[in-house]
Amino acid sequence: MKAPVLTAPQTLELQDIEKPSIRDDEVLVKLSYCGICTLEQRLYTGAMKIFYPLVLGHEASGRVEEVGSRVLSSLQPGTKVALDLVTRCNECYFCRTGNSNLCENRFKKGQKVLGGFAEYIAVKATQVFPVPESLDLKIAAFAEPVACCIRSLQRLRLTLAEDLLIIGAGPMGLMHLQVALAMGARVLVADVNEKRLQDALALGAFGTVNPAKEKLAEVVKERTEGRGADACVVTTAAHSALKDAFDSVRKGGRINIYTSYGDAPELPMDANTLHRNEYLVTGTEGRTAEDFHKAVRLLSFGIVKVDSLVSKTVSMEKAEEGIQAAMSEETFRVLLAHGQE
Ligand SMILES: [Zn+2]
Ligand SMILES: [Zn+2]
Repeated sequence: MKAPVLTAPQTLELQDIEKPSIRDDEVLVKLSYCGICTLEQRLYTGAMKIFYPLVLGHEASGRVEEVGSRVLSSLQPGTKVALDLVTRCNECYFCRTGNSNLCENRFKKGQKVLGGFAEYIAVKATQVFPVPESLDLKIAAFAEPVACCIRSLQRLRLTLAEDLLIIGAGPMGLMHLQVALAMGARVLVADVNEKRLQDALALGAFGTVNPAKEKLAEVVKERTEGRGADACVVTTAAHSALKDAFDSVRKGGRINIYTSYGDAPELPMDANTLHRNEYLVTGTEGRTAEDFHKAVRLLSFGIVKVDSLVSKTVSMEKAEEGIQAAMSEETFRVLLAHGQE
């Protein structure tokens, strides 16, 4: 089978590699789509390294091709599926305490990592989530990022009728918006890109703010009876967003630093102000299998709509062009398409 293989930073080679064969407890999936996420961008540029050669891709969907004899679920060849391509060991402390997103053995040698850019993939049955036949496989490829938003908002303890501020209206910001609306929040969205703010309004944001034109914290307070937002999720790596987050939440407000950073900025907050205001600050990393399950259901129910986030699809041969396009401010999600629905 063919796959674009990362052999060194910024070097993707289309190679003929061995088609995987499954063990008794595995499922072979013929892949249809794979999103190009910031993880792929970082691995491609070399900002992050796992090992080489590496087949990228962790936001994948496809159809079951073959089911191992010891798989217990009723998966059939032809079933449409979304794939959770982060391996969880189910042996470590974190896996056993409900935090498999923090699994210690995710990238350990011998573990299969990523692989969604190839034509086929062999995975454990636990990594396969069936979706309705009526669901477009392009949409199913969004299960992973939606699952990360669920993790993020649950970690923020977002509850019914709260005010949430989302800073950054890129694809992750807009997916957070929809999950937060489903959880019963009123959502304000901030971004310096006017087009993205329009998209946020169209998807149901209560209001939008452009921090390049207005003082974000002032607008948030005006719209929340002077208090500030109950919670805030930061999805942009702009340093100013961190300061804005602290300035915009109420006393006792919760902040999730969802984004990762190319550098390592210090928090713009002194310990005494944290103490006096009872701020809760967290980050979130990845998703658990339960988050993934919920994401698949939200997409299947049509509660989270991602059609408008598909900016472009590229063939495997154009994977490099796809990664470049994904790094542009002009696109939301770019998908690698394997030409099979
Ligand atoms: Zn992702
Ligand atoms: Zn583990």
